[in-house]
Amino acid sequence: MGEKRLSAAVVTVGSELVSGLQLDTNTREIAATLTAHMYSVVECVSVGDEMEILTSTLGRLCGAYPMVVVTGGLGPTHDDITRQAAAAAMGISMTSSADLVTDLRNRGWRHLDPEAASQVYRQADVLDGARVIPAVTGTAPGQMVPTPAGVLVLLPGPPSEMRPMLEMLGEGRTAATPSRILRCSGISESDAQVIASRVVASHPGVGMGVLASPGDVRVVLTDTDAGPVELDKAATSVADEIGWACYSTDGAALAEVVLRLARNAGVKLGTAESCTGGLIAAELTSVPGSSASFSGSVVTYSNRSKVDILGVPEAVLADWGAVSEQTATSMALNARTTIGCDVSLAVTGIAGPDGGTPDKPVGTVWFCLASSNETVTKMVRIPGNRELVRLRATSMGLDMMRRELGGD
Ligand code: ATP
Ligand code: MG
Repeated sequence: MGEKRLSAAVVTVGSELVSGLQLDTNTREIAATLTAHMYSVVECVSVGDEMEILTSTLGRLCGAYPMVVVTGGLGPTHDDITRQAAAAAMGISMTSSADLVTDLRNRGWRHLDPEAASQVYRQADVLDGARVIPAVTGTAPGQMVPTPAGVLVLLPGPPSEMRPMLEMLGEGRTAATPSRILRCSGISESDAQVIASRVVASHPGVGMGVLASPGDVRVVLTDTDAGPVELDKAATSVADEIGWACYSTDGAALAEVVLRLARNAGVKLGTAESCTGGLIAAELTSVPGSSASFSGSVVTYSNRSKVDILGVPEAVLADWGAVSEQTATSMALNARTTIGCDVSLAVTGIAGPDGGTPDKPVGTVWFCLASSNETVTKMVRIPGNRELVRLRATSMGLDMMRRELGGD
């Protein structure tokens, strides 16, 4: 059905990528763009600045895939070897483009010493038969080179230089939205998997996968041979079966959904955070326009600050401890007046690695949500290290707000 998917490979070049100094973010952007243009990305490879290895990698991939995209190593320095490696892999030569040399000169490189200048002008070397992709934000242009199996695209490494050239990848291809993403909270990855695969079994041509990261489960439905109408039907059925745990079918993040519900209900939100250190407020304020529904947050980490800023009674802390239902409740109730909001969420817990006791092990977190007519409390034990406890507590807190505002 529809356009046939061509297979593609992505190569990132740079010793900083394979040594762990720099996170490779280009692969994700390139692969997503290719996927959106009906390519099927089969291989992603990272290679250090090693001529022999890069040459043999490019030779192999260009013989196998109709589309190969490479980023990095197009710049002016000695370790920038991608052009030469591509030429060697394909057995073709390069010619210096007079236009590109002029362009580089006009960009202010003319004052360099002669050795540096000759390096800079290597960026004007064009592989025979290649089409130049003009540099929008940097100096290194990209190139599209015909290969035995299709095309090889060379793009610069810096994400800001690479990104404006990505659209070239879609040329001549149909843009596709081959997937629907259902975002869920408060359901395990395996439950989501079981429910979704049961539903998808009765929708031929719809593929399914579940992606999970701390506090976030996504069910991805793909159109393998179903068409958009059937894909939408499948997405609706899976969302219905998952029920309340599915909070968005349009890609909206949990914080966005919470703010949307608050706006619809005409209420202002606030947070009083201890172990999450402001992460919940950070999530909410990362959404543009959040000021319409989010009043503010207090981060009260020490007992002293819980007393001085939020007015938690010293006796509550002494009798029950900072991580307790009583402290969470007092934090949430007082936050409503301190912050001046309608609905407040308090979080207090033990993120670890120290501070746990037999009664309250690491991962114990108390939440309290206070509104004008009720307070709801909840205790959870979150497994995992400090980072995981904080991340999961953040999404659990946001989910408590969502359920309260959504009338669950
Ligand atoms: P330049 O003209 O800057 O040298 P270049 O095409 O030669 O461009 P590189 O030298 O390979 O690119 O990379 C330059 C910088 O771009 C790197 O230091 C790194 O910060 C960033 N970068 C390169 N590749 C990636 C990648 N795959 N993901 C994220 N960042 C990258
Ligand atoms: Mg470079």
